[in-house]
Amino acid sequence: MTKITYTSANVDLEAFHQDFDAALARVRASAGQEHPLFIGGRPVPGTGDAITDLSPIDTSVVLGRFAAATPAHIDDAVRQAKPAQKGWARLPWRERVAILRRAATLIRERKYDLAAVMSLEVGKSRLESMGDAEESADLIDYYCQQVEDAGGFVREMARITPVERNTDVLRPYGVFACIAPFNFPLALSTGMSSAALVCGNAVVYKPAQDTPWTGLKLYEVYRDAGVPAGVFSYLTGRGSVIGDTIWQHPGVDGVVFTGSKVVGMRMYAAFSSNWAKPCLLELGGKNPVIVTDTADLDAAAEGVMRSAFSLQNQKCSATSRVYAHQAVIEPFLELLLAKTRAMTIGDPTQRDVYFGPVINERAVATFERAAAQAATEGHILCGGHRMTEGAFAKGHYVEPTIARLPLESTLFRDELFVPLLSIGAVTSFDQAIAEANKAEYGLTAGIFTGNTGEIDRFFDEVEAGVCYANKRTGATTGAWPGAQPFCGWKGSGSTGKGGCGPYYVAQFMREQSRTVIAS
Ligand code: NAP
Repeated sequence: MTKITYTSANVDLEAFHQDFDAALARVRASAGQEHPLFIGGRPVPGTGDAITDLSPIDTSVVLGRFAAATPAHIDDAVRQAKPAQKGWARLPWRERVAILRRAATLIRERKYDLAAVMSLEVGKSRLESMGDAEESADLIDYYCQQVEDAGGFVREMARITPVERNTDVLRPYGVFACIAPFNFPLALSTGMSSAALVCGNAVVYKPAQDTPWTGLKLYEVYRDAGVPAGVFSYLTGRGSVIGDTIWQHPGVDGVVFTGSKVVGMRMYAAFSSNWAKPCLLELGGKNPVIVTDTADLDAAAEGVMRSAFSLQNQKCSATSRVYAHQAVIEPFLELLLAKTRAMTIGDPTQRDVYFGPVINERAVATFERAAAQAATEGHILCGGHRMTEGAFAKGHYVEPTIARLPLESTLFRDELFVPLLSIGAVTSFDQAIAEANKAEYGLTAGIFTGNTGEIDRFFDEVEAGVCYANKRTGATTGAWPGAQPFCGWKGSGSTGKGGCGPYYVAQFMREQSRTVIAS
């Protein structure tokens, strides 16, 4: 059967839907249970204020109750990770790779159940959920391949004298805190943690409080694949309560974080004190698309609609602003509005629904604030409201919204992470590039143009790590491991090397030069 990616289209989905239906029934039947933390390979009850995991599709559905970790639990997890990491790092690298490749196989075996959990927990459409599961498995394999291709990152070096033998080795840092966002709860958690693990680090993992169930499924995958007890611990809890405790723990040797700029930059500024520790951040985006006067407008409208409204704009790579040449903005908008209005909105666990709910009430409030601002500063062309009637009554549903705005509006700069697309008119390619580069973020960017010279200039001049030209299947979204490295520039990341890319894994290790002099 065809592998589902974020850009899958026109594939025969009948068998997929049947398997998804069966998985959904299984997963629904297992909802509502209580779940502990997992520290040192053992279940540990939380204390007091458990997290009730509600589906954003229907908040009367309790998916599970998850323990809330306290600072004492975090201390316990880090302390147990220390000796466990030493043993894990001593394993021959091929054995670690074999265990992680087994994890990839288990994800593929469980992909329908994993996708069904994510669809219920995040409000992802069926195809988006399956893309998340498939990407997770591919990420592990790709990172394992990097270790294999580098021969375990052990390299013979030049000899300066005939009696010496020089070897260069990359070695793990120790214990990584891994903190994940809600929107790709499996792929991002798996990508960050598997890269840390395959290098021989231990991982203390906290999923987002909106997606603890998916996080638990990842814990089970690693456990079943043979990751030793203590090497990967699972700590659910509220970031506002325990987040700082995790990365501030003195036993934590590195942080790998994907989430908002505000949380990530706070961490970056304060993480290192006595010596510099790796702080690998992938942060937010405010991703622009440029539509020039030579663009294929149908492709542009399709690509923008897909990247603005898949997963309800809650992708770090989502298109959130468009700069269209004034000569084509009217016909472009006509096509975009028609395609947006044709989208199926509803319960995303159902077949053929494209657009589901946003993650929580906070996101609804952000949407309502932004829609009010858009109505004041410009014109809302479609949407603008919360949806509360009928099937939408119990979920966090808002309308896909497109607003035409003056270029100075802050809606062109601030990440909202809700389905409100800002569109402005420009008079030249130069102006479009200048506007695109005004945001603090630099994650993804797209262009639609018939002029190849403009494509070259766009790649050279746009300040973003993931750039696409004329991509109808998603103007700024759809990156895949090994195909599109996902590197955030400026306020979108800290390392200059992206997940999904060839330089990612080495960041989880530090270099040691070994010289032996023959006696
Ligand atoms: P978020 O609010 O920053 O949360 C991310 C994670 O950080 C969650 O696990 C959260 O826990 C935790 N957290 C909160 N406060 C913390 C603290 N003081 N210390 C440590 N951890 C803390 O982000 P989100 O709303 O889940 O995800 C959306 C954001 O992620 C957007 O900005 C999006 O662009 C970005 N993102 C970036 C990429 C990328 O690859 N560049 C990919 C996906 C998403 P709680 O959930 O318990 O609060």
